[in-house]
Amino acid sequence: MRIDLHTHSRASDGTQAPGDLVRAAAAAGLDVLAITDHDTADGWAEAEQAALEVGIELVRGMEVSTRHQGRGVHLLAYLPDPTHPPLVEQLTRVLSGRQARVPDMLTRLRALGIEVTDADVARASAGTAATGRPHVADALVAVGAVRDRTEAFDRYLGAGGPAYVDRYAAPLAETIRLVTEAGGVTVVAHPWGRSQREWPGEPELAELQAVGLSGIEVDHEDHTPGSRDKLRAIARNLDLVVTGSSDHHGTGKIDHELGCNTTDPEQYARLVEAAARAAEAARAAGLAPPGVVRG
Ligand SMILES: [Zn+2]
Ligand SMILES: [Zn+2]
Repeated sequence: MRIDLHTHSRASDGTQAPGDLVRAAAAAGLDVLAITDHDTADGWAEAEQAALEVGIELVRGMEVSTRHQGRGVHLLAYLPDPTHPPLVEQLTRVLSGRQARVPDMLTRLRALGIEVTDADVARASAGTAATGRPHVADALVAVGAVRDRTEAFDRYLGAGGPAYVDRYAAPLAETIRLVTEAGGVTVVAHPWGRSQREWPGEPELAELQAVGLSGIEVDHEDHTPGSRDKLRAIARNLDLVVTGSSDHHGTGKIDHELGCNTTDPEQYARLVEAAARAAEAARAAGLAPPGVVRG
């Protein structure tokens, strides 16, 4: 069984339509795929239809932009009822915060002598519910200011960069609670990705586990072999689920091909079990968590 639990479609900043992403996953020989667009469930319906067509198991999820102790943390949320009002409220705040910073980024770029217009960004973000930084990056590529998204982030748009603008992120512990309430399960995405800092460490993860966190993503391209070993040891100590994923963005991110990292079937089964327990409680409270699509 090949299981990839973290991918993006055009519903956020991937380059494939949700249905095409699912078809590509089946063609790549994956048995289970999770669609986890940033802060939105917009791709779910189309992905579900494609999963039923091609016969792949689909986990509907999202990657929520959160903040914890002043730092950004990406939280993978699998199988929550996306209509749970307090969850909707958080996601709406994150999405509008992301959109609201686009004009500010364009102003800063203009001050640096780089002319990118609203229309350039709109062209780069066609079809998405979550216009944001990656689309500004794509617009920078389109106008020839940089070679690719990576250069756009490194030179201009990354945290601390000359065109960087801060934005709202959902409180992490509260988001874990809301997703659990909505019948879903949570996994911290690439906990030590793109940073040499080994944070969150075991004490922080233990606290998050106490409010409902199920697992951590260990096998991810942004983690060094050394980080993976240490994170695996933490997961063992705390009995957290360990996942591995591609964080595929279509052609939007190099070296993140579908299935380049995968999740062990036993770990996946633990996650699905935890989701089933949360879903039962959520259904008793009148919610409708979506469950796994067995295509
Ligand atoms: Zn992420
Ligand atoms: Zn991601």
